[in-house]
Amino acid sequence: MSFVSEFNSLPLESLVKRSQSAGIQAVRESMAKTKLSLADFAHLISPAGGELLEHMGRRSHAATQQRFGKVIRMFAPLYLSNECVNNCKYCGFSRDNPILRVTLSLEEVQREAGAIKAQGFRNILLVAGEHPKFVSKDYLKDCIAVLHADWPGISLEVGPMETADYRPLVAAGADGLVVYQETYDHKVYADMHTAGPKRNFNWRLETPERGYAAGFRRLGISPLYGLADWRFEAISVAAHADYLLRNCWKAQLTISLPRLRPCAGEFQPLTRMSDRDLAQLVCAFRLMFPDVGLVLSTREPAKLRDGLLPLGITMMSAGSHTEPGGYTGAGREKLHQTVRGRIVELGASEWATVGRASSRAESGDREKNGGSSVASPHQNHATAVTGQFQIADERSSQEVADLIRRLGYEPVWKDWDAALTA
Ligand code: SF4
Repeated sequence: MSFVSEFNSLPLESLVKRSQSAGIQAVRESMAKTKLSLADFAHLISPAGGELLEHMGRRSHAATQQRFGKVIRMFAPLYLSNECVNNCKYCGFSRDNPILRVTLSLEEVQREAGAIKAQGFRNILLVAGEHPKFVSKDYLKDCIAVLHADWPGISLEVGPMETADYRPLVAAGADGLVVYQETYDHKVYADMHTAGPKRNFNWRLETPERGYAAGFRRLGISPLYGLADWRFEAISVAAHADYLLRNCWKAQLTISLPRLRPCAGEFQPLTRMSDRDLAQLVCAFRLMFPDVGLVLSTREPAKLRDGLLPLGITMMSAGSHTEPGGYTGAGREKLHQTVRGRIVELGASEWATVGRASSRAESGDREKNGGSSVASPHQNHATAVTGQFQIADERSSQEVADLIRRLGYEPVWKDWDAALTA
């Protein structure tokens, strides 16, 4: 049995209704419990629960400090490729978007990783679109292998694979697997994913279990808030987390909290989740799952991230680029478009002008920096290659680390648990 059969038997609609109609007393009773059910979680994220947000925030803050101490784990994404065979309406990398694309060579991956390491990070998330030709299993294995010695924590956010295909990646040194379901609503999922293997909802839903069977010991899950009703998504991912805690119990589990950001294609969120809703959800996750890591990325603006941090966040990205080569300009000279899986050179098209102008800007930057190929966090290495989405917190990693210290927390750059169990 997998989570698919459990998910299909969940009374999700009645849990959402229960959440919408819960009274203050029901919320108080659920908050008083030491072990919460899905129905209790539905109460915590209810409109009535929103009226108790300050109280819930104090409880959540205390629970987080008790389990995690005053520590925030830092990580940075490294985008390997923006090639993709899928069409996801909300994503700039969708195959039909006429964007500039590139897949970094191993040497370029090392260059990007060097720039990230120079900022202090020792925990990296390798991200790529889903494209078996450009982002093959062997390519991923080789990327991990060249980074392994320098990186005690390597996680992947790439197209879902079979267990047997994950095993060589674990053997090469990857220890974490992140897969967003995007939406747990079947109908919205079908509408958002118009072409490519990602259309298979159940295959994606079972990915964390396949990853666990292959040996990944850190699993990350989440919906992408802004596609379906946020309470429906939150109850669904809570059910998913509960299942994984029972069935993949040797793994450390994280839940991310991504809200949709603008991207190429100009997709607008279909549903609204306010900042206050997001804060309430952080608290509800913490009270439901005291030991689960909560991840907040640079999708959210600086001020909001600073405010959410003490409520229950345990892991943050900083100084992020969501385009391949974003930290150093690596791969810029190879930019192209991809049509039906074939590379189309830029030639004399309007795209070439953009690429060349960008290359000139980059070489100018290098000259000003003494020819160094390692990016400083403050350096503008904007490439013409398109990012997956726009980030909202544009502070450097050092600025974020300073802020974390000012809030009384310690930024931790290395995942010691992973290093010790490796
Ligand atoms: S969300 Fe992922 S699978 Fe979909 S288009 Fe973007 S990179 Fe490709």
